[in-house]
Amino acid sequence: MRYCPRCGGPTGDLPARCAACGYEAFLNPRPTATVIIVRDGRFLAIRRTREPRAGWWDLPGGFCDGFEHPADAAVREAREELGVTVELGESAGMYIGEYDFQGELLPVLECFWFATITGGEIALDPSEGSEYAWLALDDPPEMAFPNMDRVLGRMRLVS
Ligand SMILES: [Zn+2]
Repeated sequence: MRYCPRCGGPTGDLPARCAACGYEAFLNPRPTATVIIVRDGRFLAIRRTREPRAGWWDLPGGFCDGFEHPADAAVREAREELGVTVELGESAGMYIGEYDFQGELLPVLECFWFATITGGEIALDPSEGSEYAWLALDDPPEMAFPNMDRVLGRMRLVS
């Protein structure tokens, strides 16, 4: 950010306070919600269609909307990306990561849940993924985002 979103005055980098009108902008992480859908020792992975990290294995998930609770966002994202209803299980943790927003690395708060499919058949949204696969929990590939590697590595330790 270089200019105040309220009055257009110059602000400089975040965190910033606009000298003209007093508006303050902070560099807070944006929350994301992701599901680890587990079945028979395997987890569901989607091959990303979009940048960043197009072509990499990803977990179903995405950014929270406005005042949406991350747990609600996790269920919504699974429905949008896979066409299924999921039920969340235990939290798999929260991690701070970074996300490339059009060349700018910004902080994200990545929230993970274990989940199971409770309704519907998988029909992958092609704008999200080119294919999906059930991958072995005890031998996960390198995933699109480092915290996915961390959370899957943690699962390997506890499973
Ligand atoms: Zn201002």
